[in-house]
Amino acid sequence: MKLVSIVVPVYNEQENMEVFYQEVLKYMEPLTYHFELVFVDDGSKDATPLIIERLAAKDSRVRGLILARNFGHQTALSCGMDHAEGDCVVTMDGDMQHPPEMLPQLIAKWEEGIEVVQTIRKTTEGVSWLKNFTSSLFYRIMNAMSNVQVQEGGSDFRLLDRKVVLSFRRFRERARFIRGMIGAIGYRQVKMEFVAPKRFAGSSKFSVKKMLHFALDGITAYSKMPLRISFYVGLLFAAASFALTMHVMYIKIFTDEAVPGWATITASILFLGGLQLLFIGIIGEYVGRIFEEVKQRPLYLVREEFNRPKE
Ligand code: UDP
Ligand code: MG
Repeated sequence: MKLVSIVVPVYNEQENMEVFYQEVLKYMEPLTYHFELVFVDDGSKDATPLIIERLAAKDSRVRGLILARNFGHQTALSCGMDHAEGDCVVTMDGDMQHPPEMLPQLIAKWEEGIEVVQTIRKTTEGVSWLKNFTSSLFYRIMNAMSNVQVQEGGSDFRLLDRKVVLSFRRFRERARFIRGMIGAIGYRQVKMEFVAPKRFAGSSKFSVKKMLHFALDGITAYSKMPLRISFYVGLLFAAASFALTMHVMYIKIFTDEAVPGWATITASILFLGGLQLLFIGIIGEYVGRIFEEVKQRPLYLVREEFNRPKE
């Protein structure tokens, strides 16, 4: 019988664990597959790791990887994909926003020979307009600026064939945006739409600020702050120089106070100064990323593992 891995990163999800586990059983047990449910605890401060340990003790299909601290959703997901043993791997959130009832549909697609079943979130029930707006803005900017297209509504709820998982494991960059990476990886892909229900319990672990950083970088590194500041200062100067240029133009065109040549010189100094700072900031952003990558630190650290498979 084939083995299906279900990888679930969890961070402070104590109220959701039991319900999620029961739902997965409900939809997986009737199927003719073995399955393993791989929880990756992303440095939770609540009882989540204890619940994982308890579930693993009573059900050998439940595996637990307890990370040493909070590494972030994308890294926790990667840890789960590194350890999953299945012939296919489904990644999903543990808050019921990725409905376990879709598991049979995803697996059916895989049986048709599809190697990546990517779900697309059509709408999310009960989500603020701000989150919808910023999310859609993010995809628009992202797609305008990069050569990898990421579909709006693309989620980290997907099924990957083992071949794809093995390929994915060879991508070891630290700044991870898995949606983009999977999009670029190729293989036979299909999309499947779904409506994300409300979170079962608790609140989103992504604040607006966290989303912003996710959008910018994925991971916030304190040491990159000075580089970031130069970017923002550049932005400020670029905006200010634009306003001043308008003013200078006004003086030049509508009054006779202008010394010949003054307008052009002032405007160009201001504009170029702002532009230079802006671009130094952008270069700084890339230097910061290079810095993160060359350190070659491990992506994550596993403190404890429950039900580790035998060699
Ligand atoms: N999560 C995680 N590490 C984090 C933040 C979130 O492992 O630093 C997990 C979280 O427990 C959940 C999934 O990632 O299972 C998605 O998070 P969340 O539901 O907060 O995101 P949203 O649905 O609001 O985008
Ligand atoms: Mg959620």
